[in-house]
Amino acid sequence: MPHKGWCCVGVFDLMAEQGDDYQSGVCEMCGKEGLRYIHVMSHPKCKKRKKVGCNCAGEMMKNYKNSKQNERCLHNLFDRRKRWPDLCWKESKSDNLYLNKNGYNIVIYEDDNNPAEHTFRIVSPEGEHYYHSRIFNTIDEAMLAAFDWMAEELKWSAIKKK
Ligand SMILES: [Zn+2]
Repeated sequence: MPHKGWCCVGVFDLMAEQGDDYQSGVCEMCGKEGLRYIHVMSHPKCKKRKKVGCNCAGEMMKNYKNSKQNERCLHNLFDRRKRWPDLCWKESKSDNLYLNKNGYNIVIYEDDNNPAEHTFRIVSPEGEHYYHSRIFNTIDEAMLAAFDWMAEELKWSAIKKK
C-alpha cells in the first residue's frame, strides 16, 4: 500500500444520498465507523479505490486542509440545497415559478399534457436553453433537480483532488 501519491476522486455525503436515516460508512483504512462523508481515494499503482474518512483522506493526500475543505464544501452544498425551494421564487406572467440565480433563469413549469407533473428549464447567461426531460410529481422535486443541475454546471461541489 503506497503511503503517498493518492488523490481524491470524489466525496459523497451519505445523508444527502439516503436521507436522515442514512447508513453510515466505515473507513477502509482505519476502520472508523459512523462516517457521513466518504472520500474516494485513487492511486495510479492500486487497482482498487479506497473509501475513507476525512482524516485518512488527509493523510493519504498529505493534505488535511483540503480533505477538511472538501467535507465543508459538501456540507454547505447540503444546506444550500435544503434552502433552495424556499428562496424567493417568483411567479411569471404565464403562472410559472422562476428564479434568477448567477445569471441563470430557472423556470419550473407544468407538463402541457398533465398539469400535475412538473419539470424545469434553464436559460444560461449566454442564452443557451436547457430543457430537463424528467418529470417530477411535485414542484419541490423539480426545484431540487434544478439545483442539482446548477451545482453540476457551476461546479458548486467541486473538490480538491490533492
Ligand atoms: Zn480512516
